Amino acid sequence: MKRRRRSVDCLGIAIKKSVGQYRSWLAILAVWIACGLGANDVLMSRSRRGPEQALAEATPVPALISYIDTHTHFDEHDPQNTVAAVLRAVGRENAAKIYLQIPPFGVDDAMKYDAEIILPAARQYADNIGVLGGGGSLNPMIMQAVSTGDSGPDVRKQFKERAEGLIREGVSGFGEMAAEHFAGTTAYEYAPPDHPLYLLLADIAAQYGVPIDMHMEAVPQAMPLPVGLKSPPNAAQLHANNSAFERLLAHNPRAKIIWAHLGSDNTGFRTPESARQLLKAHSNLYMEIKCDPRAVGKNPVFADGRVKPEWLKLFQEFPDKFIIGSDQHYPEEDGPTRWQTVVTILNQLPASLRQRIGRENAEHVFSRPGARSARTEATDGVDQ
Ligand SMILES: [Zn+2]
Ligand SMILES: [Zn+2]
Repeated sequence: MKRRRRSVDCLGIAIKKSVGQYRSWLAILAVWIACGLGANDVLMSRSRRGPEQALAEATPVPALISYIDTHTHFDEHDPQNTVAAVLRAVGRENAAKIYLQIPPFGVDDAMKYDAEIILPAARQYADNIGVLGGGGSLNPMIMQAVSTGDSGPDVRKQFKERAEGLIREGVSGFGEMAAEHFAGTTAYEYAPPDHPLYLLLADIAAQYGVPIDMHMEAVPQAMPLPVGLKSPPNAAQLHANNSAFERLLAHNPRAKIIWAHLGSDNTGFRTPESARQLLKAHSNLYMEIKCDPRAVGKNPVFADGRVKPEWLKLFQEFPDKFIIGSDQHYPEEDGPTRWQTVVTILNQLPASLRQRIGRENAEHVFSRPGARSARTEATDGVDQ
């Protein structure tokens, strides 16, 4: 009975939405599936054929609430088309806002670019599109400092100037930054998360009230590269990073640090229990939920068509610490999408948790209460 009443309510909302946004019975059907019949029920019946296959076959199902995706990427070759694709996705997914990030490029990557490539096209849609920057400049500077061992005054000055330049240009945060990143879109990368430039970045992030979005495979102790990954291009031995990450978190508790890609784990050590310990100890830590239906990885949040109970328990214990970060690429590829998988996760959460994880926590992370602008800082500087 309960489910039936929810179906009717959601169908009513769906009809209103559909008339406004989609104007097609297909859209009404899609929302009805998500709300009333229930994503759970559909996925349960489809899960006999495997949840990934079910998602691939399903009509796109938007989020039940207007949600925020804090971590996506884009086609840098055609910014106008990218922005148009993201704006279409905002309607299709029922997203309030989608944040675009720059991949964490290495020093010698000829493909590297940064926020400037998309900001001019995205800026006029600031209500719906945000941009994080530094992946193509700050991240290579950190990787350079790791390889040379030089993080002296000149390097720090240059790093700070670049970070503040990005703030002036209008980025909403620093990302995507890398501490332990296996080779893929970008080369293999390692930097200690408590590297002097990361500590400096935390201070800058705290000063301007913006978050740092960090890509870091979980490596609690030094270990060989996990089986199934190749070296080269990856390192044969991995450095421990958990304690160093804790030092970064403790360095400036006012710096909001987002640890990207929860549920998309390549070492097997990013467990609910390890996340619990970190969240208990560090109030400035946030985690982005991701699930790639094409490469699920270890410790997934979503399996067999359901949010796994051990992750749901953690979300309920720390309802203010999780956000959605699908890692979707726009324009979207064919076949099963990352955004659809995280939206399916979101739709399965209890309503109050859905509102926090889908919307309110991201609003908090990207709010800048009392933050000073880089322009103000410049005029208050030593010249005066
Ligand atoms: Zn990443
Ligand atoms: Zn990413």
